[in-house]
Amino acid sequence: MTSKIDKVFGLVDCHACYVSCERIFNPTLIGKATVVLSNNDGAVVARDDLSKKLGVKMGQPFFEIKHLVESKQLRVCSSNYALYQDISNRVTKVISQYVPAYEVYSIDESFIDLSGINENLEKLCLEIKSQIYRQVGMPVGVGVGKTKTLAKLNNWASKKWKAKTGSVVVILDDERQNKLLSFADVGEVWGCGSRTQKRLELMNVTKAIHLAQYDKKALRQMFNVNIERTARELTGQVCFGLEESPEPKQNIASTRMFGKRVYELLELRQAVASYAAKAAVKLRKEGMLTSCLQVFIQTSRFDDNPYSKATIVGLESPTDDTRELIAASQAGLTRIYRANTPYAKAGIMLSQFTPKAGYVPDLFAKPERRNNDRLMALMDSVNKVQGAGTLRFAIEPETSSWGMKREFLSPAYTTKWNELLKVKIS
Ligand SMILES: [Mg+2]
Repeated sequence: MTSKIDKVFGLVDCHACYVSCERIFNPTLIGKATVVLSNNDGAVVARDDLSKKLGVKMGQPFFEIKHLVESKQLRVCSSNYALYQDISNRVTKVISQYVPAYEVYSIDESFIDLSGINENLEKLCLEIKSQIYRQVGMPVGVGVGKTKTLAKLNNWASKKWKAKTGSVVVILDDERQNKLLSFADVGEVWGCGSRTQKRLELMNVTKAIHLAQYDKKALRQMFNVNIERTARELTGQVCFGLEESPEPKQNIASTRMFGKRVYELLELRQAVASYAAKAAVKLRKEGMLTSCLQVFIQTSRFDDNPYSKATIVGLESPTDDTRELIAASQAGLTRIYRANTPYAKAGIMLSQFTPKAGYVPDLFAKPERRNNDRLMALMDSVNKVQGAGTLRFAIEPETSSWGMKREFLSPAYTTKWNELLKVKIS
């Protein structure tokens, strides 16, 4: 028996997310092997279980599977990133009806904090699952454990034994948890990518349980602090709270309260553009490309006529180019802007990431974008040395009237040349 359980985490995971989104609107795809293709229908970006069984690989070029489509064994859809984001937002909304604290981790996964909930957790998770299906049409699975890492692994188990578990696996006692840890390969553990897995296997750490039992200090020395934390999490010790993870998060948000109410479209344009630029820097730092940008603007909740609106802009192809992200943010803003409204807050969010490493750029990409890597790298390096905003796009103002209220801010003595402390020598 376990002693008192302090924390309980769950992971709600959309099954074959992109394919399932397509099935909501095209039920003839249900029960048929289906894949979603990248922009310009180049390669496979999402598969369902049935297409996996047909041998279709992630990233496989379309021409290699064309025969399967022609022989009617496989269905294909072009990617519709804005739609997938909208469905994902709806799933989150249902989740928020059941749990007070959650973290949207990626387009198809949300962590939920179930600590202190005095209900039958299995029943609650089955209810969340069936409500998401009823209200949105998205099939999901749920894994629950004492830590986020265990919740993720238990979700893996719920998928592996779908029929037996009803896609919900709740494990809070150590004996059952250890049984699963002994079964699962270490590569199934969150934070153990294929490179880490290979190194661990050389140390005879082949199963998740081996990692849980390994000397934690040695892991930190040989790898890094995140692997140590991951190993501790496997033993039930919480190291990652909500919004913390061993891997970079799969979305980036940039949002701010304005220092004063903003009415003008031009000022909102500047604000949203500078948030997009800031998020782009972060995106490049994480080595990711994004397929989707969301913009939102809102008044204060306490206004007489509160107004709050968000919109989703799907990007033509995955990008980390500030110019494209600014353009998308402006397009989105135009859709939702309402005149004569006292805006108090705006923001953008990037989501649906693809690792830049190994990404094959689109053959049909606009030629003027081909040198974007060099330009962006130059901007990033200048801004790193000279200070953020040294090189920026024309729409981003140097100073703004809508910025944070910071009338009593002390100068940036140590990080800006022009704000260095001046010493008078007499
Ligand atoms: Mg999924």
